[in-house]
Amino acid sequence: MKGVPHVLLVEDDDGIATPLSAALRGDGYQVLRAPTGREALARASEDTGAIVLDLGLPDLDGVEVCRRLRAIVPGVPVLMLTARTSEADIVVGLDAGADDYVTKPFRLAELLARLRALLRRAGGRVGAEGSSVVGIQDVRVDRAAHRAWRGDEELGLSAKEFDLLALLVEHAGTVLTRERIMERVWDTNWLGSTKTLDMHVSWLRRKLGDDVSQPRYVTTIRGVGFRFEPSPPSPS
Ligand code: CA
Repeated sequence: MKGVPHVLLVEDDDGIATPLSAALRGDGYQVLRAPTGREALARASEDTGAIVLDLGLPDLDGVEVCRRLRAIVPGVPVLMLTARTSEADIVVGLDAGADDYVTKPFRLAELLARLRALLRRAGGRVGAEGSSVVGIQDVRVDRAAHRAWRGDEELGLSAKEFDLLALLVEHAGTVLTRERIMERVWDTNWLGSTKTLDMHVSWLRRKLGDDVSQPRYVTTIRGVGFRFEPSPPSPS
């Protein structure tokens, strides 16, 4: 029998699982906790709407758990929690079928924003508050209304600038490669230079009031891409 869709939270560490469960419930989700990989596999069901999966589990390897969950509940978004920061592990996590990842320690608000973004892309099987607004620090974007704000001020963005900012915000804290941004914001068959991307990043920075030499919002990762990770507003 079909029950209420829930977030399956697979995390052995109570110090993380307890506040995270509370935050998820506070955001409107039903939560089912599994402290081990085996329990996660046993508890995944047609009612699973999203999975938050710790990579470092006591019994099974998180990547393996991810692969097996994928087979049990195909199409359900998986957000991986990882303490390992090296690119290789991140790629392994994504190769295993995780849709996104958050590196510990993470901010609860950031994890919730990522989860909302994943659910929106997946068509929102979980009955959380159906807001299309994603935000981090003082920046918010509303995909449905195609509007973006910094603090109370609405940003007048072009369509491409908006798509770029929305993508960056939805992946806040992680590095987006130039190729991935080009694919997602411009065209999957894009060929040629990424000068267009650099121009849009610089326009976006200007509209955000960002300073390239000391960016508060968009950080350039040389030779790789960009990361959106706003530092808290400086105390006035
Ligand atoms: Ca763990």
